[in-house]
Amino acid sequence: MIIGSGAGGAPLAQTLVQAGHEVLMLEKGPLLRTQSQSPDGLSDFKRDELFATGAEKRLKVPGMANIGESFFSSHVEPDLNDEPHVYRDTDGRDRATIEGYTAQVVGGGTQLYGGVSLRFTPDDLRLATFNAGRTDLRDDPRGEVEREARDWPVSYDELEPFYSEAERIVGLNGTRSNQEKPASAEHYQPPLEPNPISKVVAAGMDALGMRRYRTPLAVITRDHAPSGRTVPADHETIKTAFVNRYGDALGLKSNTWVSILAPMASSLNFELRANCNVTHLESDGERVTKVHYRDPMGGRRVVEAGTVVVACSAIESVRLLLLSGAADLGGFGERIHSSGLLGRYFLTHCFGGASAIVPERADKSRTLDSDWATDHCARAEWVREQGLWAGGAIYNNTSDAALPISLARTWQAQDMDNIWKGYLGDTSIVGPGFEDYLDQNFGRRVSVSFMANQVAQPDNRIELHPTVRDKWGRAVAYVIKDWHSHDQALMDVLADQCGEILRRGGEGVQFSGQGSVGGQVSRIANHVLGGARFGTDPKDSVLDPDCRAWEFQNLYVADGAFMPTSGGANPTLTIQANSLRVGRALLGRL
Ligand SMILES: Cc1cc2nc3c(=O)[nH]c(=O)nc-3n(C[C@H](O)[C@H](O)[C@H](O)COP(=O)(O)OP(=O)(O)OC[C@H]3O[C@@H](n4cnc5c(N)ncnc54)[C@H](O)[C@@H]3O)c2cc1C
Repeated sequence: MIIGSGAGGAPLAQTLVQAGHEVLMLEKGPLLRTQSQSPDGLSDFKRDELFATGAEKRLKVPGMANIGESFFSSHVEPDLNDEPHVYRDTDGRDRATIEGYTAQVVGGGTQLYGGVSLRFTPDDLRLATFNAGRTDLRDDPRGEVEREARDWPVSYDELEPFYSEAERIVGLNGTRSNQEKPASAEHYQPPLEPNPISKVVAAGMDALGMRRYRTPLAVITRDHAPSGRTVPADHETIKTAFVNRYGDALGLKSNTWVSILAPMASSLNFELRANCNVTHLESDGERVTKVHYRDPMGGRRVVEAGTVVVACSAIESVRLLLLSGAADLGGFGERIHSSGLLGRYFLTHCFGGASAIVPERADKSRTLDSDWATDHCARAEWVREQGLWAGGAIYNNTSDAALPISLARTWQAQDMDNIWKGYLGDTSIVGPGFEDYLDQNFGRRVSVSFMANQVAQPDNRIELHPTVRDKWGRAVAYVIKDWHSHDQALMDVLADQCGEILRRGGEGVQFSGQGSVGGQVSRIANHVLGGARFGTDPKDSVLDPDCRAWEFQNLYVADGAFMPTSGGANPTLTIQANSLRVGRALLGRL
């Protein structure tokens, strides 16, 4: 049984189904069909899904510092009043948020993701070795960076065949040359023409001697045999099908529903139950025996467990395990807490970048989001020269403000907490100010982002909130997280690199600023990782190298929770590759 149908759940399901095993997949969210899958030809996805479900609401969760604030419910996230995440803010007060929910829908976060599908570097998987004995690390007065760094129990070479297989089955476009990540097979489809606005990024990277490549994106540009999908004859049309943060009505963005699950949906040994919310697991000693869930009508159901794979995205997977432990303290609880580490070492990414206004307007409704990437700042020599513990990927975004109608409400917003704020506090965005705002943000703004490893810290953690309950009476996830001083140093260096790219972008480019998420605890972000890290020592990890919970014979975690370090790139391709690897390990045991 697999719980969750996103990046962690689906590839593993495919491995087992293709090998002839019976797989039941329980998914909390609904199944949203593409145009071609729907009998009336209309996609279940709407372009305004972040705001889709009705009028403005007020937060009513007792005890929250943001009680009474307004929000718009989305049809791919829980209603905040029903099931929020709670984070402890810099002022020590608790706030409710939908941050950290990737998307509660068949396909999970891959339905809304930007599709940036980069591999991690070999060094990302061996940061303890890379940093051993170093005395040159910036802003690390207590030596925590080296102390907390962990090598993954699998090497890049061991993971590599699964990266290649993930790239084949998911369906990506991009280019390989100039990447710092070795590959044994080539499955990229050719990229489309870059958006004209990206030429300043190409010019800046070239001026700085940064070897660039076309960003691998999970969007098919040619017919894709593994999933049976076909593309429109006019390839430029593909650009209108896909936008970061939105579901793709055409099914060309390679979310796990269209690329992996739909093609096997009619297999007799596979059953997908959507709108089924798993509430807790039950064990009998070292075996999980039952999985409890709510069916689409809210009724309580129980299924007997064979092998159980949890893949609810890191925060919700940890929450599910914590809730299962709380329901059976002496049994499940004692086993799952044997290392004392469940929930600890929660990670996101060091993230930030720079933006500029370019002289010529571009049509950003026709975009595949990210055109150019560079691994320049992931190279070991560069990382050492800068006194950093790890590097990161840099790539540009074109679609960050591509859809004026919805995003007009999100003045300067790239994350969901800000979306609540809309125009609050900026009364200049009316009349001509509004026209200028649209002109600058939606036609002429270009940004360059970095994505890099966050320092692992035991106190960054997921707990069960002591008082806030979801609408079924279960404790909600409580996210306690801060940045390390080395994180801030790393973000400053990388933001500066992004700024340099734009400053060298050519004549007429107006640099408008750079920054990072450092200092913003509220930005829990879309990349939720760690909390149940894998390793070789049961005292130092929650999962064994095959992502099996140490104290259970038949319990696996296959989403981003397994990561002991968060990698210098967007995580989903690595989650998918690892899911295939865990699936292969499971085949040997079933
Ligand atoms: C707007 C946005 C943009 C992003 N862009 C990128 C990008 O460009 N590149 C990249 O690499 N990553 C990106 N991400 C992140 C990416 O979506 C996640 O890394 C990835 O989906 C995580 O995989 P997962 O398996 O951990 O969780 P998910 O893919 O989210 O899957 C978890 C699934 O479990 C289900 N579930 C949760 N709880 C339960 C329960 N109790 N019972 C049953 N089912 C449950 C959920 O409904 C969900 O479908 C983005 C995310 C967002 C939101």
